[in-house]
Amino acid sequence: MTDADAVVVGAGPNGLAAAVTLARSGLRVHVLERNPTIGGGARTMEVTLPGFRHDICSAVHPMAVASHFFREFQLARRVELRHPPVAFGHPLDGGRAGIAYPDLDRTAERLGRDGPAYRRLMAPLVARADGVAEFTGSNLVGVPSDLLAASWFALRSLEQGSPLWNLRFADDVVPAMLTGVAAHTILPMPGLAPAGAGLALGAYAHAGGWPIPVGGSQAIVDALADDLLAHGGSITTDAEITDLGDLPSARAVLLDVTPRALLRMAGDRMPRRYARSLRRFRYGNGVAKVDFALAGPVPWSNSELRSAGTVHVGGTRAEIAQAERDVAQGRHAGSPYVLASQPSIVDESRAPSGQHVLWTYTHVPRGSAIDQQEAITRQIERFAPGFRDLILAASSRTALDVERYDPNYVLGDIAAGAPSLGQLVRRPVVSTDPWRTPLPGVYLASSSTPPGPGVTGLNGWYAALSALRHEFGTRARPNLSVG
Ligand SMILES: Cc1cc2nc3c(=O)[nH]c(=O)nc-3n(C[C@H](O)[C@H](O)[C@H](O)COP(=O)(O)OP(=O)(O)OC[C@H]3O[C@@H](n4cnc5c(N)ncnc54)[C@H](O)[C@@H]3O)c2cc1C
Repeated sequence: MTDADAVVVGAGPNGLAAAVTLARSGLRVHVLERNPTIGGGARTMEVTLPGFRHDICSAVHPMAVASHFFREFQLARRVELRHPPVAFGHPLDGGRAGIAYPDLDRTAERLGRDGPAYRRLMAPLVARADGVAEFTGSNLVGVPSDLLAASWFALRSLEQGSPLWNLRFADDVVPAMLTGVAAHTILPMPGLAPAGAGLALGAYAHAGGWPIPVGGSQAIVDALADDLLAHGGSITTDAEITDLGDLPSARAVLLDVTPRALLRMAGDRMPRRYARSLRRFRYGNGVAKVDFALAGPVPWSNSELRSAGTVHVGGTRAEIAQAERDVAQGRHAGSPYVLASQPSIVDESRAPSGQHVLWTYTHVPRGSAIDQQEAITRQIERFAPGFRDLILAASSRTALDVERYDPNYVLGDIAAGAPSLGQLVRRPVVSTDPWRTPLPGVYLASSSTPPGPGVTGLNGWYAALSALRHEFGTRARPNLSVG
């Protein structure tokens, strides 16, 4: 195809969000994807046994629900999003656990003497969860539209991101819960970026829950692809682009790739100053992932965890902080932090009747080639004795395998660039329009741009709006709604 107005490289959530936005603006859009199927970080496949469908990367989608792009796209009308009764849970030794319900009062009531303190910490963020989403979903350089939400969020991030993070609490359950969420960032703690991410995700848990799509994350990208095709777009798979010169001519080129890949694709065409900025962009530590096919549900000692969509496994705040410190210092943690999701508790399409899938990953030093199946199994077994006996099959991927699957995850970094505070503002450059590169008509659309990682489609949406403005002279935002 050579007659496209815009070419998009990469059919991840952001590439497809960009493509949909452009196609909905009446442009002819063509998407090129290196893998045999679309989806990038949102694919669902059988990788263990027939009938067991596993999310290869993303699994749980509070960020999609909070995303302005997906709200305009009316994702909830296109994909069935199910809300587990417990958004996330956090086991501790002795059968104890922190349980986050999609209801702050109920959560606080069950947290013993730290309940009121947890409620006071979270209540302003839960009440203004849309404002928090608006702020964290921006490139952080403009004036927030909900100043109050941004201020509450900033103050609480400062507290939870500092050595004062335990000041409000007397017991170990709430600190562990907060740390389990903050640890999603794969950064040392306490720190501002983990605290901010943790508080935003925590607020979404109580404001609406952490939903799981029926059919897996693939359903989200399939909905995007369907909309693109319905509006005249096209997609070619098995099409890896290594040089911008190989692309069909088009007025706009949107790249769902990292700065590292952009540098390679542009070669000598890239202005030196910008190339220097891209070379300064830092990639974070990695993940090693294990998908399990199970003969039954995970036998958590604390039975409430059996209805949790997500479980943060790793023990107390101090243990998890130590595990993340180990990783930051280039070591595999002795007692690792494990992120687990149990999609088949709400979506029966994932596994044969009575059986289950379990999605897990742990953090490892970037570029690790060490299999983590045993380390993850042992850590889950600690809080769910008998887990090991339920394993029918497992598929294990090291950090290097994760990059092999999708080169955006450089050395296993699932954020496509460390989401430190500095790199949330400088992503990959400090600019009011960081999606636009100095190469004529070329835009970066991946999660290496603001607002960072997660299945939000926002990065692609912003890149497409920038391209519409600069290449096609329109400031109008297309209607993305169903129909
Ligand atoms: C293990 C794991 C777990 C995760 N869990 C969650 C979660 O639960 N919830 C959540 O919100 N987020 C999660 N994420 C993060 C989320 O998946 C990503 O932030 C998101 O997918 C980024 O979207 P993207 O479109 O920018 O990039 P990607 O999804 O990585 O897509 C990039 C696409 O571009 C293609 N591509 C790259 N280079 C080229 C090239 N040269 N030529 C052609 N095609 C190319 C790739 O094959 C890929 O299809 C997880 C990620 C991983 C890896």
